[in-house]
Amino acid sequence: MKTSITCQYCKKRHIEIVRSIRYMYGLIIFCVRGKKLFIGCKQCVKIKVVNNLLRTFLLGWWSLPWGLINIFFIIDNIYKLIWPFEEKAEIKEMERFLSEVDIDINDILLGEDGLSKSQREFMQRLSYVLFQAINADGEWHKDEEARAIKVICSNVNDILTPIQAKSLLDKAGLLRLDLLNIDEEEKIMLLQEAIILTGIDGVLKSSEREYLYNLGLRLGLHKEFIDSNINKILFDKYVEELSEELEHACNIMNLSIRSSLKDIKNRYREMMLINHPDVAHGLPRSTAEATAKKINWAYKVLKDHAKVNPL
Ligand SMILES: [Zn+2]
Repeated sequence: MKTSITCQYCKKRHIEIVRSIRYMYGLIIFCVRGKKLFIGCKQCVKIKVVNNLLRTFLLGWWSLPWGLINIFFIIDNIYKLIWPFEEKAEIKEMERFLSEVDIDINDILLGEDGLSKSQREFMQRLSYVLFQAINADGEWHKDEEARAIKVICSNVNDILTPIQAKSLLDKAGLLRLDLLNIDEEEKIMLLQEAIILTGIDGVLKSSEREYLYNLGLRLGLHKEFIDSNINKILFDKYVEELSEELEHACNIMNLSIRSSLKDIKNRYREMMLINHPDVAHGLPRSTAEATAKKINWAYKVLKDHAKVNPL
């Protein structure tokens, strides 16, 4: 048995076993006794059971009437430590405990592929949406596929290898899925991943836009919501890609990003009057040429930006 929940003791491995152990500490005429549940990875639970065994062994006797039955508590501890447990019994014990904390064991039990049932279903929906997003313009682009594989892997904390993700993606073409009965958060996430994927080349073709609307509708989302997400994500991407280049250009020209086309042209003239290789005396020609080249580059970047984004 292996679950998708991390062991509470080591915080590294997954929960694998559950043990309910008897303990007893004697207090002259009273004693403290009961059952403790240890849930965690095999290593950690084993350590816990051994600790419990030692404490019960050392502290369990010191109460007159109860001390005598400590022997049964110790036997119980040893039994739980060395007896090979049946997987079925363990799952039952786990099920009982988890139902108290409102978790369905089917959602967290991991299969051979290392995924829980709910993770597997989520992966199917994600790869299904991504598969269609890649195909939305009728072509299978490698960069889109690479991005889809990355998204699939990162969404299950890299339990899947890129090869496994690729095979999920390949199989997704055959799926017919209902996208309505999933939670709101996942719906939005699926739409957003599809938008990013279709907009990866910076343009949204009409077939891709149509696909996104269809997907949004199948997810039960409003048209306005789909629209605003498309605009926001593609705009953010545009700004993000340009910003570094623009910032550099602004620094070279000593201008703000909001400078007008006229300001940019004026500044360019000013700078070239001083820095043009023909007039920049006192500097090696190669240095002057490099400076002029840089100014020309920045001028072009800012001019293009100002043309597309008139104020
Ligand atoms: Zn552990």
